[in-house]
Amino acid sequence: MINKVPHVVVLPGDGIGPEVTQAAVTVLREVLPDVRIEELPIGGAAVDASGSPFPAEVEAAAKRSDAVLLGTVGGPKWEGLPRAMRPEMGLLALRKSLGAFANLRPVRVLSGLEHLSPLRPERARGVDILIVRELLGGIYFDGGREKREEEAFNTMRYSKAEIERVAKVAFWAAQQRRGHVTSVDKANVLEVSELWRETVTGVRSAHYRDVGLRHEYVDSAAMLIVTDPARYDVIVTENLFGDILSDLAAVIPGSLGLMPSASLGDGPGLFEPIHGSAPDIAGQGVANPAAAILSAGMMLRHSLGRPGLANRIDNAVNTALRSNPTRDLGGSANTEEFTARVLEALVGTS
Ligand code: ATP
Ligand code: MG
Repeated sequence: MINKVPHVVVLPGDGIGPEVTQAAVTVLREVLPDVRIEELPIGGAAVDASGSPFPAEVEAAAKRSDAVLLGTVGGPKWEGLPRAMRPEMGLLALRKSLGAFANLRPVRVLSGLEHLSPLRPERARGVDILIVRELLGGIYFDGGREKREEEAFNTMRYSKAEIERVAKVAFWAAQQRRGHVTSVDKANVLEVSELWRETVTGVRSAHYRDVGLRHEYVDSAAMLIVTDPARYDVIVTENLFGDILSDLAAVIPGSLGLMPSASLGDGPGLFEPIHGSAPDIAGQGVANPAAAILSAGMMLRHSLGRPGLANRIDNAVNTALRSNPTRDLGGSANTEEFTARVLEALVGTS
């Protein structure tokens, strides 16, 4: 538990970002009235205000905060800009600046909402997976890369230290959940996966003997995530495999508007919905704020040391979804009405 007043930097961004973050901030203030909120522009909004998608004062504020709540960035207005001024570059710079090496994406099918899933109801029922993706290493980064006329290569490289730090996040998260980690690799073919497997096993033996561990190959896991999602509690995997598997798993709940995320590292945690700026519905007040509100819940759990408040938010969102969801889920609530239902559901719980 953090004793001082928690300081949260809110970066609403573009498109539906301001609408959904406003909802999330309202909920955050309800459960944590003394929270100090500092709101600043990022992405296209920051380009318009100052010419840069990630101004130096925004970086400085984010780094001194306890946690960052982000909306979404981007939109058609800024598409023609030079690369360095694009809103998306601001987001990448923010993630890097916070040293966020572990990306957490919960994939849950809430009871009563099984029909939204493309999976058969008996498979979708009760799905509750946390994917932990390594975010700052592997083939996307500086392991050696080149493109020539007739040949090109990238290198998947991991150090033991990089594997250990993300494995610890996964085992820690499993301790708060159902106590099981599945580590996904390709150790039958790749040396880097052999090191991954040995290291994850070593972290468990040294620090987390109370947590179960199973290893799966990535090809097999891709099949099992859709055919038998109930087998998973926490999944931990490297950057490229995690990129693919987390997008695959994101289809299970049935709407992007339900999917929160956390990116954790050495600095303040970064919390954001996984959906984009949704220019087609921006400004209409109809966006589903559930993903942003649940992201604020993840912030309470992972950065502010208040898991009890996070549980209350999860339950309140669940109640609001069952009573009258937003349009993307076939309901009729607008953003404000949905948020009001969440607040109502929070009152009287503790
Ligand atoms: P980006 O390139 O910014 O990631 P994208 O093409 O992945 O964008 P999104 O902006 O996430 O797409 O939107 C995809 C579709 O889902 C759009 O039709 C959008 O309106 C809808 N959508 C996304 N988020 C929400 C939300 N929170 N509430 C309602 N609809 C949403
Ligand atoms: Mg997208």
